[in-house]
Amino acid sequence: MTANDNLTYAYMLGVQVPGVPPQFLRASSKNRHRAWAGMGVIKYDRVGECIYCGGKWGKLTDEHIVPYGLGGNWILPESSCERCAKITSQTEFEVLRKQLIQVRARLDLPSRKSSLPIEMPLTVQLGDEAKTFFLPKAQHPTLAVFLLYPLPGVLGGNSPERGINVIGHQLYRVGGPPVKETVESLGSKKLTFTQKFVGNEFERMLAKIAFGFAVAQLGLDAVRLSRLRATILGKEDDAGRWVGTGAYHPPASTMLHEVKLFEGGGWLFAKVRLLASMRTPEYIVVILEGDPAYRPELFHGGPLEKVELPGTLTSKIEVEDRVKRKG
Ligand SMILES: [Zn+2]
Repeated sequence: MTANDNLTYAYMLGVQVPGVPPQFLRASSKNRHRAWAGMGVIKYDRVGECIYCGGKWGKLTDEHIVPYGLGGNWILPESSCERCAKITSQTEFEVLRKQLIQVRARLDLPSRKSSLPIEMPLTVQLGDEAKTFFLPKAQHPTLAVFLLYPLPGVLGGNSPERGINVIGHQLYRVGGPPVKETVESLGSKKLTFTQKFVGNEFERMLAKIAFGFAVAQLGLDAVRLSRLRATILGKEDDAGRWVGTGAYHPPASTMLHEVKLFEGGGWLFAKVRLLASMRTPEYIVVILEGDPAYRPELFHGGPLEKVELPGTLTSKIEVEDRVKRKG
């Protein structure tokens, strides 16, 4: 028997691509959830304390496991204190209102606060100058970039002292007309796509999704010792220890997002894929550390593979170097 035989598949949660009825899949008989029929909402049992700091006093707010702004409707009732909610909503603000704002507008994902843009910028090269056009959604080739990392440091992935190492990125066209056609219609031959990543907000959001799902499925007691909590709250600048990329280019999913939990050899980790239907990378988030000698296949990433887009595009990824660096 190999170590792999001990690795138990635990749970999977996914939301299907828009237009298809939401579906909830789970492999376990643990019955901790109640599905709200027809609304795609899953409300888990009330937690009654803050899952991040353990606080039980004051007003406890409901947590969305995958942010509501990404179409996540899985709720952990009374599970965050106001102070921690303020920290985690700042993380989500950075990712949802800045990094993924165009993607959200393109996919008609929900928005609780201000409305999503109806015109979106596109920068093309005209002669020696870069010029930015604002195009209606229907005419805008919407792009998204996902960063690639080594495996989480605790799985042997070379984490830096602080932050996380970035070893590459993958660029996706989320929708809209082809890039080449649009660029040519603007009298140009080259589009420049720039995405700025500030701090480790995206990685902290992945950590929060993984941790929230583990609490929902296994209960808070099972993950109370997780050091991921300090990462989520920004008390530790150590995202690279716990977060990394598994498969760079896994097959397209029928789900918009996927969150899976795995356990074995004392390890508990999640695989998180956002926009999984586009063949986006699969991120691994370690929730609990296990036996270092235990090395299941599941920890290994695939070969680095680029997703090709039409040839008129250059991408520029700006990564703030305080916490991330290009490897
Ligand atoms: Zn708290």
